[in-house]
Amino acid sequence: MKRTFEYFPPTICYDKPAVAVVSKEECDTRRARALQGTLALELIVPKKSAKVWSMQRGDLCRVSLPEGSQVGDLNLWNLENPRKERFFSGKTRQIHSTHLKTYDRLWSCFPYLRPMATFVKDSLEDYGIDRDGGSLHDVAGTRCDDYIYKLITGEDRVGSCHSYLTAAVKEYGLSEEDVHDTWNIFMCTGFTRDTQQYFCKPSPARKGDFIEFIADMNLLVALSACPQGDVSIQVGQKVPDEKCFPLKVEVFRPN
Ligand SMILES: [Zn+2]
Repeated sequence: MKRTFEYFPPTICYDKPAVAVVSKEECDTRRARALQGTLALELIVPKKSAKVWSMQRGDLCRVSLPEGSQVGDLNLWNLENPRKERFFSGKTRQIHSTHLKTYDRLWSCFPYLRPMATFVKDSLEDYGIDRDGGSLHDVAGTRCDDYIYKLITGEDRVGSCHSYLTAAVKEYGLSEEDVHDTWNIFMCTGFTRDTQQYFCKPSPARKGDFIEFIADMNLLVALSACPQGDVSIQVGQKVPDEKCFPLKVEVFRPN
């Protein structure tokens, strides 16, 4: 006979600590101040590659799609202490949710556990949560890598978000061990209701779409333009080059 269990309704484990709840007015003011300031940096992450840049506390970063639908994998480090303090995807997921929404924050690892950045604008926020539980900008997955690619296809390859990020952070004296679980921007993912498996859908992001976040500490940021493009093709299958696009990065600094 199959065992039965008493039913309990779900309880939110970490009902947002006060520091996880930002004032929208204050956020919008910080955003406006940064956008009225100086364009401190502008760069393109070419398709199938990664770039690294630094930000000062209070800077606003906009990541946009200059050509076509494309997902990005983002890593964050404390600029002054990158080997010790970095983005903690798992705890960010527990504090907020599997998919980040405007006014959610990105948290750092132990023993710090403090906000590194705040998500302040999303041109895709109307997507919400679709009928399959799919949503955008997850902190549930990690980043594509050549190790799993080999497990799936049997082939060696160097050409994944993990390898691009690893190559990019060398410039700052960091290595493969410093690359960590990502914030998957523009990516549409979820977990199947029947088997709880991680799924992807083609990104609904289009040319001109963007997200913005504000640095809550001095940051080192790395961003990869995923070789899966808009993730409309399953990992392991060939992704045509025309499916991949660059990402544009702008950093605005308040005067
Ligand atoms: Zn990727």
